[in-house]
Amino acid sequence: MQISDHMKDAVEKGYALAAFNAPSFDAMSAIAKAAKVQDKPVIIQTSARLVKQHTADAVGQWFRTAKKIWGAQCYLHLDHCVDLALISDCIDAGWDMVMFDGSHFEIGKNIDLSQQVSAMAHRKGVAVEGEIGCIGGEEDGLSADANYANPDETARLVAEGGLDCIAVGFGNVHGDYETKANLRWDIYEAAYDVTGLPLVLHGGSGLTDAEFARAIRAKSAKVNISTDLKKAYVQALESAEMKGKILSAPSAVHDAIFESCFDVAGTYINKFNPTEGTL
Ligand SMILES: [Zn+2]
Repeated sequence: MQISDHMKDAVEKGYALAAFNAPSFDAMSAIAKAAKVQDKPVIIQTSARLVKQHTADAVGQWFRTAKKIWGAQCYLHLDHCVDLALISDCIDAGWDMVMFDGSHFEIGKNIDLSQQVSAMAHRKGVAVEGEIGCIGGEEDGLSADANYANPDETARLVAEGGLDCIAVGFGNVHGDYETKANLRWDIYEAAYDVTGLPLVLHGGSGLTDAEFARAIRAKSAKVNISTDLKKAYVQALESAEMKGKILSAPSAVHDAIFESCFDVAGTYINKFNPTEGTL
């Protein structure tokens, strides 16, 4: 199945695909194993910074290797990116979906560049995620103030941008939530009626099970988890046990990242796409 069909299936059936930001091959392999063990699909996403650091060819190979080792149903996605050359490299290197984040631009420019990315991606059968209204907080060195999506601008972006799914800012943030008082659920719950596209929920770490269920009922087909994955492996690396092991067996670092990512990924894959019943 193509990723865009899988997201439509998720909207129809009321589940979401978990999408994890993987910083390394260890993390990708652990996420793929979790998907195999859960027997559910998963999205492995990469930051633009990771791709710049290692090249799209190398990161694409990590992904295909992880997928092959575990025989899992995995999709590769490029998270927040405004660099069209980098997006083009990822499309050529076999990514299933790319995100063009034009939310910082005025709406005309967001539409224009989203159109260009969609045309380039769709020629190669690659799906596109767009963004309207800014996701706040900081992730991978990118920071922004949260900004609410305007329904008229959202409708224009969807009508003209050629997108396959869309991230709609409603006060959600990357990193930790200092307050949830700014979450405008009314905007998020109206978004699918405006767009008719599967929604993507950013800033998933820190939300409660009830909030996830609410977002999935609002037609979130993809839920991004980054901070919780990072916290899990940082905790593992900071443990006293790890400090004892690391000098004599540096590979313990990779084992710790693998195990913590495997646990976190399995939990969220099942939370968003439970085997029993609906959310
Ligand atoms: Zn994001």
